[in-house]
Amino acid sequence: MRRVLIGLLLLAACSREPVPPEPATPDAESIRAATATVAEARIVGADREPGNWLAHGRTYDEQRHSPLTRIDSTNVAGLGLAWHWDTGDERGLEATPIVVDGVLFSTGTWSRVYANDGRTGELLWKYDPQVPREWGRYACCDVVNRGVAVWKGRVFVGTLDGRLVALDAGTGAVLWETLTIDPERPYTITGAPRVVNDLVVIGNGGAEYGVRGFVAAYDTETGARKWRFWTVPGDPALPFEDAAMQRAAATWHGPDWWTVGGGGTVWDSMAFDPELNLLYVGVGNGTPWNRDLRSPGGGDNLYLASIVALDADTGEYVWHYQTTPGETWDYTATQHMILADLEIDGAVRQVLLQAPKNGFFYVLDRTDGTLLSAEPYVRINWATHVDAETGRPVEIPEARHPDGMALVWPSANGGHNWHPMSYSPATGYVYIPVIDMAFPFERARDFAYRPGVFNSGIDIGPLLPPKTVEDRIEMLRSIRGHLAAWDPVLQREAWRVPHPGSWNGGVLSTAGNLVFQGRSDGYFAAYAADTGALLWETPVHTGIVAAPVSYEVDGEQYVAVLAGWGGSFTLFTGVPRQPGNFLSRGRLLAFKVGADATLPESQTTSMSIPEPPAIEADEAALARGEVLYHTWCTPCHGADVSSSGALPDLKYAPAAVHARWDAIVRQGVYEALGMPRFDHLLSAEESEAIQAYVVDRTRKEIAFCATDTPGRYPELFATACAKRVAAPP
Ligand code: CA
Repeated sequence: MRRVLIGLLLLAACSREPVPPEPATPDAESIRAATATVAEARIVGADREPGNWLAHGRTYDEQRHSPLTRIDSTNVAGLGLAWHWDTGDERGLEATPIVVDGVLFSTGTWSRVYANDGRTGELLWKYDPQVPREWGRYACCDVVNRGVAVWKGRVFVGTLDGRLVALDAGTGAVLWETLTIDPERPYTITGAPRVVNDLVVIGNGGAEYGVRGFVAAYDTETGARKWRFWTVPGDPALPFEDAAMQRAAATWHGPDWWTVGGGGTVWDSMAFDPELNLLYVGVGNGTPWNRDLRSPGGGDNLYLASIVALDADTGEYVWHYQTTPGETWDYTATQHMILADLEIDGAVRQVLLQAPKNGFFYVLDRTDGTLLSAEPYVRINWATHVDAETGRPVEIPEARHPDGMALVWPSANGGHNWHPMSYSPATGYVYIPVIDMAFPFERARDFAYRPGVFNSGIDIGPLLPPKTVEDRIEMLRSIRGHLAAWDPVLQREAWRVPHPGSWNGGVLSTAGNLVFQGRSDGYFAAYAADTGALLWETPVHTGIVAAPVSYEVDGEQYVAVLAGWGGSFTLFTGVPRQPGNFLSRGRLLAFKVGADATLPESQTTSMSIPEPPAIEADEAALARGEVLYHTWCTPCHGADVSSSGALPDLKYAPAAVHARWDAIVRQGVYEALGMPRFDHLLSAEESEAIQAYVVDRTRKEIAFCATDTPGRYPELFATACAKRVAAPP
């Protein structure tokens, strides 16, 4: 009888539809357990767990190619929004999330760290390092951060003000923090740390502001510094730190480059070959840009604009390859480096691939730095080619602009900037977010280094914007960008997709024959990896600059990306977000096949330009104000008094701001909001001249808007004449 009852009970149980248990939200213990074993063995063996994204470039070779195949070219058209999570950030988002067993670790502006549930987007914890907002004045390229590293239960982040912080992966609690920089110098950290051999490695930025570049490694357990590699030589009267510095010093000339700092910051790219035990770091430009100002007498200025291979345990120099000897155009070699094994001329070579700012695509032998090939991947006019014997570019002398201005391709933004590429072993292509634009270089005639401000050494004259709104719009239209599929063996382009703007997102490729990329026009898209055909796109209401990742949880493949418009290009040029949405609503977005969540439309209202105060100034004062504005204000508020929207567009400054102008500009009353004080840099008369120029510029814009019609510039009219602002609740 009892046996029958049990049998009936079992039958009843079996006849019911099985209800899968609701997956529990990851708690601190489960996150700690999942991340505890993330270390070299798992990162090297990342292809055995394709559902995770354990390191910045997924693997140490930084290929950014996901082996996942549930989403492929046949079903990607059915991709929909699975969830979104609003970060609350109002400026650029550039991070690549790390994904461990369905938990996403990412960063936002001001170096904040977020942990989210990959199935729902639910925030599990967040950490805010409370970066002093006044440090933002040293961030040329927005108060951004490109992500964390995860290692043995810890999450590592570099903060804008130069700290390296270790967090408990389960809770975000601080385990240790260490100051990596000399706080008397304007260093900033925006790059993602990498962890190799139980050492967390981080560099920094700030070349234009006057720093001496270095990269350093810290014990993951204690935060103690284990090694430091300087990228440029210091005061030659002092002992050299190592033989590499002694050799480098012979390539610098002039009386005092070391008092300025020299530059050469390692602000983004690294890659690691565990078998060779080599850590590759990309080195940036010098201070100031023009070699003749920085190092009178010439010289290659090692190790500026170089890829340097270091012993990962000791930080000792092993080899270098300098992409741009005597660098003069802000042509950093800090761009993404990819390691791959390629068959070249019948032999498999261990290569390093880079498309740095200078416009050449390099294939190097990564064992010793030998140049295998270099060809232009974008329009260039500063060099004809790279000499195969010497490995050096053959320059076109006028590009160094010895007397006067030269319009040089690529621009100081580069043919490719920090936005990550990807390499697909299936197609053999490297996917490059390419920028096609020129820059008017002219050496400042009376350059003098000014500590703590942007020292490009460029004459501001050629940079002054066109005088009319029409000209500005035409200029913005002339700046192009595209996604290129580049064959690194044949050194030629396989296909390209032209984009509406130039400052587009990083790239992810997948084994589903897909390439994912966000665009400046506020779309997230998928292209066929073999042909470049557009297979899917969706509006996300803000420009994307970050790179996507793919992960799998509960048998479901997701593609996730941070959407948030910003970065140097947007701040300087004032290129707005997608017309119709000027709110920089930073969001983490995740997509999967069959999902149909929707993004809330931003509640906005149109705002016309307010009438400026009755300030009159003569032509001379306005011209002076224009030069001062473009020297001091453009890096944040945008050229031509037109901001990207991330920071205030001063044409829209209310009467209250104009009434307190000098207190805001010179006395720092908005310092806590990130507006630095300029009393040590600007006189009261200069502050007044800037205000007069802003007022004059505002009046001209109002006049343009009164006479023009949206028909002439349909895509940009709204940006010039009717700012969209958050609707009052
Ligand atoms: Ca630079």
